[in-house]
Amino acid sequence: MKELRQSTILLIEDETEIAEILRLYLEHEGFACHHVTDGRRSLELLRRLKPDLIVLDIRLPGQNGIDILQNLRAESAVPIIMLTALSDDVNKLVSLRLGADDYITKPFNPAEVVARVHAVLRRAQGGIQGQRDQGMIEVGPLSIDSARHVVQVNLAESVQNLALTLTEFKLLEFLARQPDRCFSRYELIEACMPESDALDRVVDSHLSKLRKKLSEAGCTGMIETVRGVGYRLWQAR
Ligand code: CA
Repeated sequence: MKELRQSTILLIEDETEIAEILRLYLEHEGFACHHVTDGRRSLELLRRLKPDLIVLDIRLPGQNGIDILQNLRAESAVPIIMLTALSDDVNKLVSLRLGADDYITKPFNPAEVVARVHAVLRRAQGGIQGQRDQGMIEVGPLSIDSARHVVQVNLAESVQNLALTLTEFKLLEFLARQPDRCFSRYELIEACMPESDALDRVVDSHLSKLRKKLSEAGCTGMIETVRGVGYRLWQAR
């Protein structure tokens, strides 16, 4: 059913002029756009609207975008694009660490935002649809279900699902398709975030977060940083 309806974008932005322009552009592209000026009801809206993507401003009155991002991520892997100020380098990195899928720096061209929205949605939906028939990937204690976007950690003492962001999932899945092989950061960017102008340190940030989640689930040492080259996922370690 999902393919038949409009994609819904939730826009959380306190500057109403910016929000109005974005809404016009997004609606012109055929998206349904729901705008709120603060994050107070973001979780309620997430549950009720089930948006396909969220555009979230970092600087908001009351609860800031970083806190809202954390709350949303605790509950959902919905794609999230952050809007940041030019000087917000720290927040850009923090938000990627916390699971944002992309960020856009203000001032921006609204057409650029629309292009990023399309790209992130394509990535999200491609991840689900393109791999629907490819079944499960088993690497060490990990079972990766590409169709359902679920990663299960099967250890003797426990079985648990990993809560990953879309980008973390794509990276893990990509590495897991050829375990023990080393990939460069460039290859990882090309394969997992081709539309973004991602830097090496952005890949590092996603992978360090992924590694932390794996460690917390009992899979320490699976992702190795290969100095001067990139990363690999070990089958057995
Ligand atoms: Ca703002």
